[in-house]
Amino acid sequence: MDIWNYNIFWQEALSQIREDYKINGKEQEFLLWFTFDFLESRDRIILVAVPSAFFRDQLISRGYINLLEHKLFELSGTQIKIEFTIRSKAETSPIVKDSSDTPPVLSHKSSLTVDITSPVDKNHPQLRSDYNFKTFVIGDNNSFAYNAACAVAKNPGKAYNPVLIYGGVGLGKTHLMQAIGNLSYNENNSNIIYLTAENFTNEFIQSINTNTTNKFKNKYRNADILLIDDIHFLQNKTETQEELFHTFNALYDSYKQMVFTCDRPVSELKNLSDRLRSRFERGLNVDLQPPKYETRRAILEKKLEILGKHIDSAVIDLIAENVVSNVRDLEASLTKLIAYTELVGKNVTLEIAQQQLKDTLSAPKQGNISIDAIQKIVADHYNLSFTDLKGKKRTKNVMLPRQIAMYIARELTEYSTTELGAEFGGRDHTTVMHSCQKIDDLLKSDTVLSSTLNALVSRIKEYKK
Ligand code: ADP
Ligand code: MG
Repeated sequence: MDIWNYNIFWQEALSQIREDYKINGKEQEFLLWFTFDFLESRDRIILVAVPSAFFRDQLISRGYINLLEHKLFELSGTQIKIEFTIRSKAETSPIVKDSSDTPPVLSHKSSLTVDITSPVDKNHPQLRSDYNFKTFVIGDNNSFAYNAACAVAKNPGKAYNPVLIYGGVGLGKTHLMQAIGNLSYNENNSNIIYLTAENFTNEFIQSINTNTTNKFKNKYRNADILLIDDIHFLQNKTETQEELFHTFNALYDSYKQMVFTCDRPVSELKNLSDRLRSRFERGLNVDLQPPKYETRRAILEKKLEILGKHIDSAVIDLIAENVVSNVRDLEASLTKLIAYTELVGKNVTLEIAQQQLKDTLSAPKQGNISIDAIQKIVADHYNLSFTDLKGKKRTKNVMLPRQIAMYIARELTEYSTTELGAEFGGRDHTTVMHSCQKIDDLLKSDTVLSSTLNALVSRIKEYKK
């Protein structure tokens, strides 16, 4: 046996991973993605064949390659790297290899993500170049935020300061924020800093530990544009809040632009100092809502156009009609179907799409979400006890959260109104119906409530995982 023949480890790694997926009820996923062939191995390298660069990038960004390399290390005690070769569709397996006709080997370290860029001239090291204004689809749900972001990118420090973009997960907050960064970086060549609130916090703590807080302060107070993502992370982080407050003032006083994102309206952040809260609220606060059908369709079409891929119109419709939660889920469904298409080399039919996406399509109503989880998360959000939320009290501060919890339960579970009544302190089914109706009415005009609701729903869905 060739000393670099890792085929045995390879087989074993795959079979162990498959077993793990099976135990977690995810064998389908395994079967969809772990379909690449072992071609050959060399010194600490395994070469595999994949149908396309897209498929390869997905394998990497979804972490499957890391998982495999990790497993191979466990089994062989050697760091074995996986490299790829792209097999065109015309070729049929098995691949006959001969050394005169070796296809190019692409190390996955060299191209990590799918390139869906309408090219930005200069790439900022902390920003994704595909998060730009050209790739962002405008709809009713986001046009205000989009316009505010454009205005700020073109006139940093002058239009609105700060801008705070809020909304639930996967609705495009990070995309818009980075689009601001990308555009200004190219147009004004300014010192743009992008980071998450979590990294800001960690860096700040690190600077305390290493006695370099001055360096930290200088770095952020010298930014021309400071972009801080996901500031809800700052809740309870008193000292970091304090530091950001001073950074804010320094930048504000010298007309430097700041942009923040948050998963809820600032008014709903807890354990945030009043003075920092008032700073966040000072400029322009804009929200992102989930896209409606037409925008969902337009987003799917845009993604296909950027990727240069084709999917039948009926299939696009199926996704656009059913995947209503957010853009990230929308993209994930599309990606899955594209990968499938490339793998089998033919177009996805409606039946195949239904089959492939069945988990996603049935998720909202069926995902084993417990009433308990809903009640806990809603109660927690409104600072109520679980018992109060379920109980008899009829004060206003309990009533609304209770109605919201009922509404969400009605949306996310299969419980009947009678069953729900029982779960909410033995109430009548008409009470449940009345509550749902009330929230429905409120949602028509209250956009703050609607983003709160979206945030709650995302958290509830996360909770069950
Ligand atoms: P958030 O930060 O709000 O959680 P992201 O900005 O990460 O959401 O967006 C999730 C994904 O959806 C990203 O890939 C982003 O490019 C995409 N996306 C969101 N909104 C839009 C849009 N309006 N047009 C095109 N792509 C979008
Ligand atoms: Mg984000």
